[in-house]
Amino acid sequence: MTRPPQSRVDLPGTLPSGVTGDPLGGVGRFVVTATDGAARAGVLTTVHGEVPTPAFMPVGTKGTVKSLDPGELRAAGACIVLGNTYHLHFRPGEDVVAELGGLHSFMGWDGPILTDSGGFQVFSLRETLLALDDEGVTFRSIYDGAAAQLSPEGAAAIQAALGSDVAMCLDVCPPAGVDDKELEEAVRLTSLWAERQNAAARAPGQLLFGIAQGASEPELRRRSIEELVALDFDGYALGGLSVGEPAELTMETVGWAAPLLPGDRPRYFMGIGDPKGILEVIERGIDLFDCVLPTRLGRTGAALTSAGRLNLRNARFARDSRPLDERCACPACTRFSRAYLRHLVNQQELLGLRLLSLHNLRFLLDLTSGARAAIEAGNLASFKREVLARLDETA
Ligand SMILES: [Zn+2]
Repeated sequence: MTRPPQSRVDLPGTLPSGVTGDPLGGVGRFVVTATDGAARAGVLTTVHGEVPTPAFMPVGTKGTVKSLDPGELRAAGACIVLGNTYHLHFRPGEDVVAELGGLHSFMGWDGPILTDSGGFQVFSLRETLLALDDEGVTFRSIYDGAAAQLSPEGAAAIQAALGSDVAMCLDVCPPAGVDDKELEEAVRLTSLWAERQNAAARAPGQLLFGIAQGASEPELRRRSIEELVALDFDGYALGGLSVGEPAELTMETVGWAAPLLPGDRPRYFMGIGDPKGILEVIERGIDLFDCVLPTRLGRTGAALTSAGRLNLRNARFARDSRPLDERCACPACTRFSRAYLRHLVNQQELLGLRLLSLHNLRFLLDLTSGARAAIEAGNLASFKREVLARLDETA
């Protein structure tokens, strides 16, 4: 479905190669190309290219997916990466990034980038919160302890300066278990801020996604979704889940909440990266998801494999000449043995954490593209069954 460009300011003189004619032709378009039950395969068009969905988005917190360079990300199959507004705002600062040509140019990644609003970091570091009111949120920076404020207008301005392809609305994301009053206030502020951010200037062609809150409370979640959908965003995220509630409740909520979102816009589940969880949100109609899990696990010496999670520190791998995962075609698996990787991890060699990060990322990207192919073939349920059965094998 083609929609007219929204109030986009200062159309650029140059656009990435491949974008011709109408300077923003097709940008923001999301086409569902196949469905299987509630699951969808689709394509989201951004200024920096197309994103086939479902898509796993590697997290480049500080303008880098830890230890991996953009060429490696591309080779692993990444189509879109995520940048963190909170961290980039404080170090090196969006003005520095903008002066150096924007985040794509700065980090050397010419594909699509999604930036979060900074809100998740602010609200997950609850001990740093100072004040919360209609204007925005005041908190202490984790970098120098100085008081800082984030408002919807500020979140828009930072993300416009970074020049991401998809910007996220500033929302209030409470942890699991807060009382109804706090949850309702989070929904109220999230809608109030979304309306203001929707009216703020953006980078040329930058899409803006709204984030629904309301935890697993049907009435609040519905209200949040209705209020955001009325603002007509380019896509919608289910926020405030995977924040400490039981996993079954997360999936139950996604199951009834995802269908409440418009079918012709991408749906983003924020913060899921375990293989089973990824398949479960895809099955429930989610198109985009992100997680730091693959690189974080890599740094602890753990590998996600088709036969379950392996801890390379374990002595049983000391003389294991097999590849990490026989089903994987990444450099770690095609060139090195488990014994060598274990040695690198135990000696805290940089190559070890790089190879494990690369493998873990490739594993989740392959899993996601496999799910996409299964949706297209109409056999997602059997694909999921087979993947989960293999995960329970002992490697
Ligand atoms: Zn591998």
